[in-house]
Amino acid sequence: MDAAALQPAAEALRRARHVALLTGAGISAESGVPTFRDAQTGLWARYRPEELATPEAFARDPKLVWQWYAWRRELVAKAQPNAGHHALVTLAAKLAQFTLIPQNVDHLHEEAGSKNILKLHGSLFANIREEDHEPVASEDMSDDVPPHCVRTGQRIRPGVVWFGESLPQDVLAAAMQAARRCDVFLSIGTSTVVEPAASLPFMALQSGATVIEINPDATPLSAHCQHVLRGKAAEVLPALVAAAFPES
Ligand code: NAD
Repeated sequence: MDAAALQPAAEALRRARHVALLTGAGISAESGVPTFRDAQTGLWARYRPEELATPEAFARDPKLVWQWYAWRRELVAKAQPNAGHHALVTLAAKLAQFTLIPQNVDHLHEEAGSKNILKLHGSLFANIREEDHEPVASEDMSDDVPPHCVRTGQRIRPGVVWFGESLPQDVLAAAMQAARRCDVFLSIGTSTVVEPAASLPFMALQSGATVIEINPDATPLSAHCQHVLRGKAAEVLPALVAAAFPES
C-alpha cells in the first residue's frame, strides 16, 4: 500500500459529513469468498458465473443454477467478516451521514454490524417466487430441486438480482441520491463494470464529491477519481480509517 497516497485520502474523509460507499466482491475476498473475476476453483471452475447468474440460465438448467447457489450459500455461511468490513463500522460511527451500498449478496457487512444498508443485488439467503418475485418462507418450500412454493406452485429461485435484471427501484433511487449528495464517495473492491452500480461513483464525481478507490487493480474508474489506494480492502480500509480518525 502507498502510504503517501493514504494521507490526502484520509484528510478528505476527516473533513466529510456525508460519505457514501459502493462495495463489491473484493471486500469479501479476504473472508474467503471468491470474486467473479478471480479464477474459480474446484467443482464449479468450468462454469462462467456470468452464465449461471441469469434468468436464461435458470430457465435452461434450473437444477444446475440452484446447486451453484446452494454451494455459494454454504461457502458464505462459513465466512466471517474481515478487517475491511469492521473498519466500515468504525467509520460509520465517526460521520454525520453514512450510506453503505453493497453489490454483494453475502451477509458480511450485516455480520460486522453495519446498519441501514442499501443492498443493490439482493441476498444469497433470500428465496423468491420465480413469477411474482415475492419472498417465500422456508416452511412454504417443497423438497425438490429447485423447490416449489407449496401455496402457489411457482418455482422458487434465489433472491438475488441476476445479470440483465432490474434492480429494486427504491433501493437504486436511494443509492443514486446518496451518490449525488455525499462529500466523499468510496468505491471498494468493485470492478466498476456492472451497471447501474458502476455509474454511482461517476455520479458522485459529477456532483463534486471526492472519490476514493480501493482496489489492487485498475478499473474504469481509476483514471477519473481523486485518490486511488492500491491494495486489499482488508488492509487499506483499517489503515485509512485509522489515519483519518487516529483516536478511533
Ligand atoms: P467482480 O468480481 O467483478 O470484481 C471484483 C473486484 O474486486 C475486482 O476489481 C478486483 O480487482 C477487486 N479485488 C479483488 N480482491 C480484492 C481485495 N482483496 N480487496 C479489494 N479489491 C479486491 O465483482 P463486482 O465488481 O462486485 O461485480 C460482480 C457482481 O457479482 C456483483 O454484483 C457482486 O456483488 C457479485 N458477487 C458477489 C460476491 C459476494 O457476495 N461476496 C462474490 C462474487 C461476486
